Amino acid sequence: MLGVLGGGQLGSMFATAAHRLGYRVAVWDPDPNAPGLGKADVPVNRPFDDATALVEFTRSVAAVTYEWENIPAATARAIEATVCLRPSADILTTIQNRLEQKLFLSSHGIPIVPFVEVSALGALSVPPSTVGFPCLCKTARSGYDGKGQWRLESPHDIERLQEELAQSASAGPWVLERVLAFDKELSVLVVRGADKEHRIYPVVENQHETGILRLTRVPADVDRPVVERAQHIALAVVEALDGIGVFCVELFLMPDGTLYVNEVAPRPHNSGHYTLDACTVSQFEQQVRTVAGVPLGEVRLLCPAVMVNLIGEEITRVTNGEGFPALLRTAGAKLHLYGKREVRPRRKMGHVTFLGEKTEDAWAAANEFQVRLGALDREKSPPTA
Ligand code: ADP
Ligand code: MG
Repeated sequence: MLGVLGGGQLGSMFATAAHRLGYRVAVWDPDPNAPGLGKADVPVNRPFDDATALVEFTRSVAAVTYEWENIPAATARAIEATVCLRPSADILTTIQNRLEQKLFLSSHGIPIVPFVEVSALGALSVPPSTVGFPCLCKTARSGYDGKGQWRLESPHDIERLQEELAQSASAGPWVLERVLAFDKELSVLVVRGADKEHRIYPVVENQHETGILRLTRVPADVDRPVVERAQHIALAVVEALDGIGVFCVELFLMPDGTLYVNEVAPRPHNSGHYTLDACTVSQFEQQVRTVAGVPLGEVRLLCPAVMVNLIGEEITRVTNGEGFPALLRTAGAKLHLYGKREVRPRRKMGHVTFLGEKTEDAWAAANEFQVRLGALDREKSPPTA
């Protein structure tokens, strides 16, 4: 039996992939409504610091992974003391702290966005010249989907943020990071097995809205040298970590072709959901393979794809009224709903992957869908590639 910490959509998709390969799955999630619990052979619905749950969980599994990096490090370490955890608790600890992650990456010569550590925000008056305005203040811990981030345009915004944080429970440290006027956001999935073999998925292009992923298109509309450099950097990151598992490296592509690593996820990633429908082996099946210690799979892209997230109320526009039959009628559209009971603003509720014979076909279908969804006011111009 394989174990996964976290039973959100990523943990659920891990369970589905594991079942397909014949493994049983234990899912541990403190939220009784976590969709992954319903998919588990052994559901563990207890807080992550529950000692009895730890014994029950570790006793039932041969190897464990996690669906996101904000799992308590102490739980990861306690599990690793008895069973194999992939990626390791050391890697989780480095990555779950933005500051440590950045220090790790820069110490290994990986190009990252200029930043400074801020341990006492109250003492800050202006960002150092290496960062400047505009800049982003990000919490070192527990940020995701753009949460725990503030954009600062002027000293006035620093004062405002100081007041806001003084009244909240938000604790430092923070990183202060230069806002980059990037051309594109890219990401690269790297899979690395226990035998140190690796696979690199195609480079994808991501569009975010208010810090949350809106869509992913693959292949990215970039030149071959950019693809090669992005894949080279992503592999260098995973090799520096000596990671075993699935990793996603997020990158910013600057107008002059420079690439900076934004952040690294030690797990399957939203920008890799297209692999479920458009690749020979999905990122979740690779996660299963890395945890189980069996050979990795092929990462071939079978056709171009565009993945559109369903965020918050958008799901009701897809499942109610005309939206549902219209989507089901769309050639190449694959709908994935996550089974979350509660719709909340900014919550990822599902996604649709549009497969096309050509990039233009997938792009056109995804655009039409977004216009219907109300996520786009009007059609965006088609990609040049
Ligand atoms: P999260 O953990 O929430 O994904 P990220 O650091 O990846 O945090 O930020 C979310 C998004 O915000 C990024 O994908 C990007 O669109 C934007 N962003 C983050 N940092 C920068 C930056 N330094 N310059 C410009 N945009 C940024
Ligand atoms: Mg990110």
